[in-house]
Amino acid sequence: MKINKIYIDQAVADYPVTIEIIRRMKHKHFEYVADTESVFRLINAFKDPESAGKRSLLLTLNKGHFVRKCPGTTHYTCCNYHILHIGSYCSMDCSYCILQAYFHPPLLTFFVNHEEMKKSLEGVFSTGEICRMGTGEFTDSMIWENVYPIASKLVRMFAGRRNAVLELKTKTSEITSLLGLKHQGNTIMSWSLNTPRVIREQERRTAFLNDRISAAAACQSVGYPLAFHFDPLFWYEGCEAEYNQVIEKLFSRIDPAGIAWISLGSFRYMPQLSEIIERRFPGSNIIYGEFIRGLDSKMRYFKPLRIRLYQSIVTKIKEMAPDVILYFCMEDDEVWSSVLGYTPSEHGGVSAILDRSATRHCNLRPVSVQR
Ligand code: SF4
Repeated sequence: MKINKIYIDQAVADYPVTIEIIRRMKHKHFEYVADTESVFRLINAFKDPESAGKRSLLLTLNKGHFVRKCPGTTHYTCCNYHILHIGSYCSMDCSYCILQAYFHPPLLTFFVNHEEMKKSLEGVFSTGEICRMGTGEFTDSMIWENVYPIASKLVRMFAGRRNAVLELKTKTSEITSLLGLKHQGNTIMSWSLNTPRVIREQERRTAFLNDRISAAAACQSVGYPLAFHFDPLFWYEGCEAEYNQVIEKLFSRIDPAGIAWISLGSFRYMPQLSEIIERRFPGSNIIYGEFIRGLDSKMRYFKPLRIRLYQSIVTKIKEMAPDVILYFCMEDDEVWSSVLGYTPSEHGGVSAILDRSATRHCNLRPVSVQR
């Protein structure tokens, strides 16, 4: 993280997490603010607010819910995932990042009211019902460790829980802080993977593919279950061969028996993101393919193209890791049956498929798991 300035909401000035962050970041420039909206206005006044929001950090309260169900998207199969909202936005800079358009303006924000977060999690732990939860929806799970070791704290909080599994999703290779922890298998370390070309051209400031895989191998060596996300997949000339090479590289280092799941999703975007991509990434051509507007209003590749890309990747994964659980993020039954040969409902639904895999890989003992 290259933060120039840290804004502290006066309402959280005395919170232990704030004090700890000030101690850790003492060389940074701090400013206390009574009105957090003024910080957003300030960021919005920049010519490139999406970049400015990556250089400033706001410490404040999460006034909403720390734990919430992933909104998914209408009309497509959803996996009943839960989001743990620890903070927002990201210090890395992917051209396609939805967060650029999701927050107005986007600003690195870290929530410090961890007592409330703890209460929300205790509520989840006490139900006994299986819950898959991640911190990597509104931010990257691993970018915060230098600011505040939230990932390490959460690994400890989830360790030994009988019904809850934490997924830490990242494009970094920053996992050193987690290697010595007693995770007890309740944390799944997960990486988004892409071809070296996509990483180089579209994923600024993220870790190289080799480094992501090395980090995953290090986590596997100390017993963390793993997950991988081929999402977003891009269609370009030669992409199928390049994705196959990524899969070969992955399984040359990683034992598939320790993988809880692999997801696949093709590039899709809200129409309002295209203006941001054109402005901020003039060299990127990712929005100039053949797209259709999906039922959820997002732009996607034509379905036959998506199916072709998925089939190519699934064939390769099945060749190298026949037993790994695969699922699609935001696709319909036609895609599932064309590529995997079944629809989720034939196996109890996506949620049940993933719950069963979490139970197997993470040693959970929930009250009930749909068989
Ligand atoms: S790593 Fe994820 S959250 Fe960060 S910029 Fe890229 S897509 Fe966005």
